[in-house]
Amino acid sequence: MSRIFDTDLQYAMSTRAIHAGQRPDPTSGAIMTPIYQTSTYAQEGLGRNKGYEYARGKNPTREALERNIASLESGTHGFAFGSGMGCLDSIMKLFKAGDRIVCADNMYGGTPRLFDRILVNYGLKFSYVDTRDPQRVADALTPDVRAVIIETPTNPLMHLTDIAAVAGLVKQHGALLIVDNTFATPVFQRPLELGADIVFHSTTKYLNGHSDMIGGAAVVRDDELAARLQFILNAAGAVPGPFDAWLVLRGTKTLTLRMAAHDANGRSIAHFLDQRLGSERVFYPGLPSHPQFELAKRQMSGFGAMISFELGSKAEAERVMGRFRLFAIAESLGGVESLVNHPASMTHASVPPERRAALGITDGLVRFSVGVEDVNDLLADVEHALAR
Ligand SMILES: *Cc1c(COP(=O)(O)O)cnc(C)c1O
Repeated sequence: MSRIFDTDLQYAMSTRAIHAGQRPDPTSGAIMTPIYQTSTYAQEGLGRNKGYEYARGKNPTREALERNIASLESGTHGFAFGSGMGCLDSIMKLFKAGDRIVCADNMYGGTPRLFDRILVNYGLKFSYVDTRDPQRVADALTPDVRAVIIETPTNPLMHLTDIAAVAGLVKQHGALLIVDNTFATPVFQRPLELGADIVFHSTTKYLNGHSDMIGGAAVVRDDELAARLQFILNAAGAVPGPFDAWLVLRGTKTLTLRMAAHDANGRSIAHFLDQRLGSERVFYPGLPSHPQFELAKRQMSGFGAMISFELGSKAEAERVMGRFRLFAIAESLGGVESLVNHPASMTHASVPPERRAALGITDGLVRFSVGVEDVNDLLADVEHALAR
């Protein structure tokens, strides 16, 4: 855990992205945070040290990253983990056997896999709900519910959940609201400001932004919750190495620039697909035809670069995906390069086929993570791929 420097709060997001949580190295003045590649710290005597004892608990490179992300998310305490799933697994250790968690029915594929195939074995209970409708969340809040977990927009169908509305219900119930903010990033959406208790990320995606590491992070505002998470972080130890922490810290410096470029490219490509395929086949929260466009405008300050579209069959998806020259066929998202993915056989292959069908993750669905290349080059690539 690292608490943000209070002095960082006076600055705007783009300034904090570059400076928050970091100070020039006191030994040398190095402008960039050093990679403290160490497992332990020399102590001055018994019980006397500089606040660092063993690197599972604390590492200065990791702390700089934790403060930086905490500041971007308008929180007070940040926690870095070795992956997004490691982060979520550690968050879930806040709960105990018999506790029930209400979970959005269209989360990242690895989330229900962790819940239904591992955590149920430890006595946690899960209810899956379509959280687009806050009333359904309200109806699911039985006395054993300790937390509600949502992702908005969702992957790959771009469903939104009204964070402020759900936060109100969850608070009234005395439970915690946990939000996966990987897709929107704090540049476009800050769940803690809307009443969420814990926000978390796969830093593998936009926060790092260069597809060269795996990591996770969580941010909270409450001191007691922060102390519990720090205890879990140190006791369970799902922490990142200092080099990976440093890569994300370098990535967040350009986060606001990258997100603006992703957003501009995402809007252009979504509009192109909308005209080419028809609105009912394109899923993007920034299109006026998106059923939750009003909520998107209210809750997000940008729509990002994740777009899904329906090509009707697996054969057509395969044909089109094989014709791209710039978009690489790959899992993951959020890097500077454009990727194309087939959710049914790639990112969401771990979701049982009946559940995929019920959610609308068809065999003809294709998902883009639009990068920050020149938009005309990308549009030409999409046009070429779709051509018969
Ligand atoms: C990738 C991803 C995760 C999992 O994160 P890892 O870093 O791959 O463990 C969780 N949620 C969302 C929305 C993701 O895209």
